[in-house]
Amino acid sequence: MSELLDTLPCGVVSFADDGLIRYANETIARTLAYTRDELTGRHVETILTIAGRIFYQTHFFPLLRLHGNADEIFLLLRRKDGQEVGALVNGVRRERDGVVINDCVLLEVRERRKYEDELLRAKRVAEAANAELEQQAKQLQEQAAEMEAQREELQTLNEELVEQSEELEQSRNAAEDANRAKSQFLATMSHELRTPLNAIGGYVQLVELGIHGPITDAQRETLGRVMRSQRHLLRLINDLLNLARIEAGHVDYRISPVAVAELVAGVLPMIEPQMAAASLTLSISTPRSVHVQADRDKAEQILINLLTNAMKFTPPGGRVDVDVTLDDNGTCANIRVSDTGIGIRSEKLKSIFEPFVQLQERQTEGTGLGLAISRDLAVGMGGDLRVASELGTGSTFTLVLAVAQPA
Ligand code: ADP
Repeated sequence: MSELLDTLPCGVVSFADDGLIRYANETIARTLAYTRDELTGRHVETILTIAGRIFYQTHFFPLLRLHGNADEIFLLLRRKDGQEVGALVNGVRRERDGVVINDCVLLEVRERRKYEDELLRAKRVAEAANAELEQQAKQLQEQAAEMEAQREELQTLNEELVEQSEELEQSRNAAEDANRAKSQFLATMSHELRTPLNAIGGYVQLVELGIHGPITDAQRETLGRVMRSQRHLLRLINDLLNLARIEAGHVDYRISPVAVAELVAGVLPMIEPQMAAASLTLSISTPRSVHVQADRDKAEQILINLLTNAMKFTPPGGRVDVDVTLDDNGTCANIRVSDTGIGIRSEKLKSIFEPFVQLQERQTEGTGLGLAISRDLAVGMGGDLRVASELGTGSTFTLVLAVAQPA
């Protein structure tokens, strides 16, 4: 029987109520690093740690005494070398030969402890992960708050932008209204001024013709001055009226394919005599094949203006060239009027298309409106008017129009 008990995987200890161990099997002796002889006669509390002892006294032993048994009580045992060993203890109280004996079976809980440790470790890992998650959640909350703040900021910005764009829209409308009113005013005034001016011209001609009697040479000269001023004023008013009409969008463009050669040929009769009188050489190079999308009258008006300017600003003996080239992909024609005249300062090149800009001092001829009108007309035909010039060398004005297939 005793041998059998020694082979058990659990310890067996029997002790009397005086606490002295009467029997200990080999297993418990091995577990606690004692010999069996050393254990026998030893007080059972000497194989318990302090905590084990307290538990034994307050719990285990009272249970045994009161109920006769104690099941699965965890006691911390103390090995001979002082190390702790956890054990689950089942105890039964019985009487043998008139002596009360407490038989205990001790199951070492190293395995269980290992699980508990692992559980503890897992719990710690879970707690750490939890703490990390909480930290991340907090960061996320902070980021969300930050994003919300940014969103609000963006919304404010957006509202401001909408407000500004409404204000801009209002200002634009106001400016357009003002511009329309200006154009309307110019159109009305120009019309009102032209009528009496035409009358002045007519009456001066009547006097010049001697309808009211003979006039002296001095009177004729004075009348000539009156006529020149009248014509200048009339041209100015006509130009103003044109510009006002164009800017008010009151001009209709009848766009159709027009041969550039025909356009140029159409204006030559008005230009050639003056060219010859000003001792200028005019050379034309416009292939018959090139056609452009244009309103013929308006394109002619532009060419007359460019050629008149070339004549005005080129000293006798100079040259005026008209030619046409196509751009690289053949969609635009560049009709160029070049002269070898006085040229234009580079810093003035941008402003010459503005109304009333005249670069020469005390310029009596012209109104400073021709280029403004010409550019507006070119743009109105879907084209453009450009300039390149070098002071003292000459200028090139380029009328750009879309190429057309012949009708
Ligand atoms: P204007 O009736 O005075 O000719 P434009 O609008 O046609 O009015 O021209 C504006 C100004 O641009 C001219 O007064 C002149 O100073 C300058 N300009 C125009 N064409 C030429 C040119 N071919 N060479 C030099 N200057 C020019």
